[in-house]
Amino acid sequence: MSSVLEQTTETYGIDNWGAGYFSVNRKGNLVVLSPENENLNADVKEIVDDLRKRGISTPVLLRFPQLLFGQIRKLQTAFRKSIKEFEYEGGHLCVYPMKVNQNRAVIEEYLREGSRYNFGLEAGSKAELYAALGLEQSKESLLVLNGFKDRDFIKLAFAGAGAGKNVVIVIEKMSELEHTLSLIKEVTAENSNADLPMIGVRVKLYSKGSGKWEKSGGEAAKFGLTTTEILDVIRRLQEAGRIDLLKLLHFHIGSQLTDIKRIKNAMKEAARTYAKIRQMGVPIEFLDVGGGMAVDYDGSRTSFESSANYNAREFANDVIYVIKTVCDDENVPHPTIIQESGRFLSAYHAILVTNVQDEIETVVEDLTPMEITADNPQVVRELADLRETINAKNYREYYHDALEHREELFTMFNLGLITLEDKGKGEVLFWDVCERADQFAQQKKYISEEFDDLRKLLCAKYLANFSVFRSMPDNWALEQLFPIIPIHKLNKKPTEYATLCDITCDSDGIVDKFVDLHDVKPVLELHKLVPGEPYYIAMMLVGAYQEVMGNNHNLFGVPHEAHIHIGEDGHIIKKVIYGATLADSISAVRFDAEQLHDQFRRMIMKRIKDGELSTKEGSQLIEYYQDQAESYTYLTPSIGKAV
Ligand SMILES: *Cc1c(COP(=O)(O)O)cnc(C)c1O
Repeated sequence: MSSVLEQTTETYGIDNWGAGYFSVNRKGNLVVLSPENENLNADVKEIVDDLRKRGISTPVLLRFPQLLFGQIRKLQTAFRKSIKEFEYEGGHLCVYPMKVNQNRAVIEEYLREGSRYNFGLEAGSKAELYAALGLEQSKESLLVLNGFKDRDFIKLAFAGAGAGKNVVIVIEKMSELEHTLSLIKEVTAENSNADLPMIGVRVKLYSKGSGKWEKSGGEAAKFGLTTTEILDVIRRLQEAGRIDLLKLLHFHIGSQLTDIKRIKNAMKEAARTYAKIRQMGVPIEFLDVGGGMAVDYDGSRTSFESSANYNAREFANDVIYVIKTVCDDENVPHPTIIQESGRFLSAYHAILVTNVQDEIETVVEDLTPMEITADNPQVVRELADLRETINAKNYREYYHDALEHREELFTMFNLGLITLEDKGKGEVLFWDVCERADQFAQQKKYISEEFDDLRKLLCAKYLANFSVFRSMPDNWALEQLFPIIPIHKLNKKPTEYATLCDITCDSDGIVDKFVDLHDVKPVLELHKLVPGEPYYIAMMLVGAYQEVMGNNHNLFGVPHEAHIHIGEDGHIIKKVIYGATLADSISAVRFDAEQLHDQFRRMIMKRIKDGELSTKEGSQLIEYYQDQAESYTYLTPSIGKAV
């Protein structure tokens, strides 16, 4: 690797957050490495160029199922090794929580690889269960049902058991137990040997997680039964003679758990609860530790919100060790551990590639030399003076002076005391002083907050062809960070500092927080845009939650999607799924394309009749309007133009 490649790899932190899946090749392009064989890789720029030839423009979501497999194996291996190391006597199974990404491609690929280890599914709603019931799972795998349930939901669970699945209804509320008991009666009245779902209970733990989702745990959590309620469930099941069905104890203290200490505390509490229930003669076999295994989005390995201070192996070690210790102490069998990891499994496999369309000018620049004479108002002359004499010692003071002069400039203009030309000159001078002050500030070791803000103000604003609300909603809603990186030109030093603006008409549609090893970067290093040359960037690790939480703001629909296999000769495009057309997007808000076409046609016909349009003009307009129904909701390259 040349040193520029090394530098850019470090600038973007690829080795920190990439989990070994990403690198840069000699051409300076981002590559995705096959987890099975690190000699195989796919060049992301080549994929995008290939897709362009097929008429697929950016934004496009690239899915790499092999990375999903890689994560499944990482998780399975971590637990297998810990189980061996600590001589744990129970097993480990995973159930993938569908809500993290219910896309058919994701679920089917997950089951394909996961079934080898008897990994199953977790559904939290009727719709998710409905989808799960039609999918083939391995014989030993579980289908765990969480969330609030009505009678139909529970009846659907019975249908799953009837189809031979190992369904577990996790009781979140007493009413769910009553429905379950009455359905058991109904089903067994017809066939006393009928296969029934198992029952689980979700406990409310005192222990809380850490990070953005810590509300999911603790006494005030929305989900889970209190100790008294659990004892009630046990009593009700004993009365009904069906305590044999109570097989699982569940808890989930939140997503993106950043701190391993908190996880250990929750494990201790849950293991103790399991042991005490077990000692009451309840045949619980499964201890479901929920999800929450974090993804280190910024690569800092800390307990910061977008990071985690542990890896898969440490997580597995702590879970296994704590549960084993408690169970041995209480003299109860080691339960099989069920894990509901979603984010950890699916985050890496998807990346969104898009093009930077343009730069938005905000800072006033004037490249022609400016003449300042005694005729210019004093405020302009003073700004010019600041510009000439600013230096490393006085830059802070001069910056403050410039701010004051700018106020004065606007006041005088509003009072009609200076001309438009003088105002223009003053603005240019003001931004010049700012830029110089910024340059001096950046040379200091410690950069004060005001100059951090100034940097944000001065930096370039790149218009990226995507919607934050559709493709990175957690960045907007929760300030969660995602690594962002150019997919090419990585053999050249990025010389610009930029924030990203999306193409929605929403001032919130910006990205101005970027991953950094020690902090959060207010700006991202990017390359200078070259007119006529496309510049592509990728939003990485967006495979968990982003796709399904993304919304329709401004009617930007789902982007194009391509499924990529990494093989001997680089990438193979396995499948292309077209993104939302204008017709798709308007139908989401209950408009109907046909009806709109009719109405548009009628307006044109009237104008033709009134002699305001020729028949030819009219029919061209109608044709054009109707054709647009099938076009992409994002900005598309003009014919013959490179971008
Ligand atoms: C959301 C959820 C999960 C998934 O959590 P991750 O952080 O994605 O692993 C697991 N279990 C339950 C009950 C959930 O609600």
